[in-house]
Amino acid sequence: SQRVVIIGAGIVGTNLADELVSRGWNNITVVEQGPLHMPGGSTSHAPGLVFQTNPSKTMTHLARYTVEKLLSLEKDGHKCFNQVGGLEVATTPARLEDLKRKHGYASSWGIEARLLSAEEFLKIYPHLNKNIVLGGLHIPSDGLALAARATQLLIERTSKAGVRYLGHTPVTGIELDGRHVTGVTTSTGTIQADIVISCAGFWGVELGAMVGVEIPLLPLAHQYAKSTAVPALAGRDINTLPNGMNAELPILRHQDKGLYYREHGGQYGIGYYGHRPMPVVASSLGLTPKDVDEQNMPSRLDFTAEDFNPAWKESQKLLPTLQDTEIADGFNGIFSFTPDGGPILGQPSHLDGFYVAEAVWVTHSAGIARALAQILTTGRSDIDVSECELSRFEEVQVNRDYVSETSQQNFVEIYDIIHPLQQRASPRNLRVSPFYFRQQELGAFFLETGGWERPWWYEANKDLVKSLPPSWKPVDRDPWSAQLHSPISAVEAWKTRNAVAMFDMTAFHRFEVCGPGAVCLLQRLTTSDITTKPGTVTYTLLLNNHGGIRGDIFVLRLKDNVFQIGANTATDLAYLTREARVQEQNTPGKWIQVRDITGSTCCIGLWGPRARDVITGISNIDLSNKSFSYFSLKKVVLAGIPVTMIRKSYVGELGWEIQTSAEYGRRLWDTIWQAGKLHGLIAGGRSAFNSMRLEKGYRTYGVDMTTEHNPFEAGVSFAVDANKKDDFVGKAALQRLSTQVPSRRLRALTVKDGRSMILGKEPVFYNGKAIGYVTTAAFGYTIGRPIAYAWLPGGVGEGEAVEIEYFGKRIRATVEVESLYDPEMNQLTQ
Ligand code: FAD
Repeated sequence: SQRVVIIGAGIVGTNLADELVSRGWNNITVVEQGPLHMPGGSTSHAPGLVFQTNPSKTMTHLARYTVEKLLSLEKDGHKCFNQVGGLEVATTPARLEDLKRKHGYASSWGIEARLLSAEEFLKIYPHLNKNIVLGGLHIPSDGLALAARATQLLIERTSKAGVRYLGHTPVTGIELDGRHVTGVTTSTGTIQADIVISCAGFWGVELGAMVGVEIPLLPLAHQYAKSTAVPALAGRDINTLPNGMNAELPILRHQDKGLYYREHGGQYGIGYYGHRPMPVVASSLGLTPKDVDEQNMPSRLDFTAEDFNPAWKESQKLLPTLQDTEIADGFNGIFSFTPDGGPILGQPSHLDGFYVAEAVWVTHSAGIARALAQILTTGRSDIDVSECELSRFEEVQVNRDYVSETSQQNFVEIYDIIHPLQQRASPRNLRVSPFYFRQQELGAFFLETGGWERPWWYEANKDLVKSLPPSWKPVDRDPWSAQLHSPISAVEAWKTRNAVAMFDMTAFHRFEVCGPGAVCLLQRLTTSDITTKPGTVTYTLLLNNHGGIRGDIFVLRLKDNVFQIGANTATDLAYLTREARVQEQNTPGKWIQVRDITGSTCCIGLWGPRARDVITGISNIDLSNKSFSYFSLKKVVLAGIPVTMIRKSYVGELGWEIQTSAEYGRRLWDTIWQAGKLHGLIAGGRSAFNSMRLEKGYRTYGVDMTTEHNPFEAGVSFAVDANKKDDFVGKAALQRLSTQVPSRRLRALTVKDGRSMILGKEPVFYNGKAIGYVTTAAFGYTIGRPIAYAWLPGGVGEGEAVEIEYFGKRIRATVEVESLYDPEMNQLTQ
C-alpha cells in the first residue's frame, strides 16, 4: 500500500494510524518530536472533558464516535473513557432558556439528554450552591476521555500491527517532486512517503509553512488549575484510581462564568475561558526537550495566577466546598483555535499527497481520524466533514491578521449564547460589492459571510410596511427570532412577488472554467450533459463516488470552451482546481484554467413580474420568452454597459441575473434603479430572498443537503440526467440508488398556527418521538406561514402532522407537497 508518514503522536495522529491500519493500510510511520511516552503536545495535559452536543450535527457525530471508540479501548480492566455524564448548569434565566435550545440539538442529532430542574440538578451534583442554580442539562453519555492513556494504548496496538513510531524525531522539512510530496526530512534523515499527514496540533502553522500552505489556526494558552484536596470528596476508593478513572461526579460546565470542572481523585480540576486571550507562536517554544514530564512540556506555560483570580472566586461561589481549599497547581496550556471554531481537515488544492488534521479537540479526535481514514481509503467520509475542510476559508480569511483576530474572538465567546445570525463587529467591510455605497444610502442592514457585506434588508423600505395588504402583514415574533430581523423583509418579498426588486448577488461564488479540457472536466464531474450549445444554463450536481452530494452548481456555457460556474463555497473552487490539474496531467495539451472571478465581477438579481418592463425601458433587446427563454443567457449591452444576462431566479419570479465586471457595477445599479422607478422597483435583502427561496423549495448546499445525502432523498434528482452517456463521478452509485426507495427525505413543512417561528436545527417529532431535524426555516410571506425544511424518515409523507421543538415548546406543523409557491413554474417561464 501507499507509504504514509503521520507527523505527531498526539490523540489525533495515533487515532489516525489506528483507523488506517484497521482499514488494511500497513506502510505507516508516525514521526514525533517528543518522547513517545509523553510527547508534550496538548494531549499530554488534556483534562479530557467530552461534551458531545454541539449546534453542529457534524461535530456532535464526530464526538459520539470518539466516545464509542474510547469506550472500546481497554487495558487492565480500565477503559479510556469514564462515562460519568455531563452537566451544564444555568445560573441565569437566559442560560436556562438557551439550554432548552441545546436540548433540542441533542434530540436533533440523536444524543440522549434531559433538562433538569434546580432540585433534580442538585440531586445529581449536591456540592453546588443551591442559591444560584436555576436548573440545567444532563447528558448521561458524556464523560472524561483518558486522552494520554488512549494515545499510549493506540501506540501499543498499532505498533503490534506494524506501524513504525519514531520518537524524538522532529520533522524539519517536507519534500516535494513538483506538486507531489515524496517524504519528510527529519533530524535523523529523510523518510520517503507518498502521503504525508500533519497531525501536529498547534504546530500546524509551522508544518504548513514547509509546503507553502497557510494553516488558519492560532495557538492560544488556556488556564487549567487544580484545587487542594476537597474534604467533601476525601476517603473514596476511586481517589486512588488512575487519572480519569478517579472521578465519579459528572463533568460540569458553568458557562455563565466561562468555567468547567472535573474531579481528580478528590481534587477539583478547573478550566477557565474568562481570561484575556493569550496567543502563542509555536515556533517560539523551541525544541521539545528530551525529558518531558507532567510539569515540563512545551504545551504547558507558567500559570499566571492573577488571570485566574476571577475564576477562583466564581468557583468558590458555585462550589462552596472549595472555600476550604486552595489552588494547588495551575498552568496555561496551549491548544488551537480557528476563525470559525471548527477543526482543519483535508488537503490544499495545489499539492498531492499532503493532508492536515489539526485544531481538533480530544472530543472529536477519533471521529476526525476516522473521517480522514475513510477519505483516504474510500474517497468519502460517512459523516459529512465539509465544515471542517481546510479549503472552506476564503483567501481573505487565511492571512495571519484575520486568523489571529477571529480566533481570539472565538476563544472569548466560546461559552456565550450565540444567535444563529450573530455577527462579529470586527473585522468588517473586508469585501464590499460596487453597489455598497448605494446600499448604504438606502439604509441597508448588513450581515457578513465569507468576508462579504450583504444587505439583509433596507430601512428605505420601512414606510411601505404600512401599505402592505392585510394578508402580508408580518406577525409578531418571539424575542429570540426577532433578533437580527425586521418586518421590512415582508415588504421586500411583497414587492418582489407583485412588482419588481433588485438583489445584490455579488457574494455568490463565480468561477470561470475555460480551455480545451473544460468540457471534459465538467462532463466528468457533473450529473448533467453540459455539451449544450453556448448560451444555455444548467443546474447540476457534483457528487462523490458514493452518490453523495458534494455541491450543486450552475454551469453557464458562454462559448464552446468557456464556462462560468455559479457555486456555493471556496471548497468548490478547490475541488475544480484540483480536478482540472489532475486531468491536465493525464491529458497533456488539453489545458484547463479555473479562475475565481467573484471579486472582479458583480451581479444584480432583478426579479418580479415587472422585471421585463424595467429592462425594456433601457434597451431594445428582445426579452420575449421565445427569444430569451428560462435558463438561457446572453451577452448584451445594457444602456452602454457590457453585461451578461442570465434568465434564472432563486426567488421564483420572472427576471434575470445581470452580471458585469466590477468597474461598471455602480453604473449598472444606477441605471436599473432609474429605469425601475416607473415600475415600483425596490432593493431587496437576503432575508426576503431566503423566505422566497424556501417558498420555491430551492435547497442550500451545506445546510439542506450535504455529502451524507443523495439526490433522490434530497429532492434534487431532477438535476441528474438519466440519459447522460458519458461517465461522471457518482454515476454507478446513482444507478444503484435510483432503484431504491429513499429511507429518508428532505421535506417542506409549514407551521399550523401561522406564526410560531423556528430558525433551523430544531428536532422534529412524530407520535412523540424525535425522528428528524430542521435544516432551514423562514417565514413564508407569500403563503402567510413559517416554513421549515426538514430531514424526515421516508415513511412520513405529505399531509402528515409533526411537531417541531423550539426552546422546549412543541410547534405543530404539516408535511407539504412542494413547491409551496408556483409549483407549475408559471411565474418563471411567463
Ligand atoms: P497534540 O497533542 O499537540 O499532538 C501534536 C503532536 O505533534 C505533538 O506531540 C507534537 O510534539 C508533534 N509535533 C509537532 N510538530 C512536530 C514536528 N515538526 N515534528 C514531529 N512532531 C511534531 N479538548 C477536549 O476535547 N476536552 C477538554 O477538556 C480539553 N481541555 C483542554 C484543556 C487545556 C488546558 C488545553 C490546553 C487543551 C484542552 N483541550 C481539550 C484540547 C485538546 O487537548 C487538544 O485539542 C488535543 O489534545 C489536540 O490533539 P492533537 O493530537 O491534535 O495535538
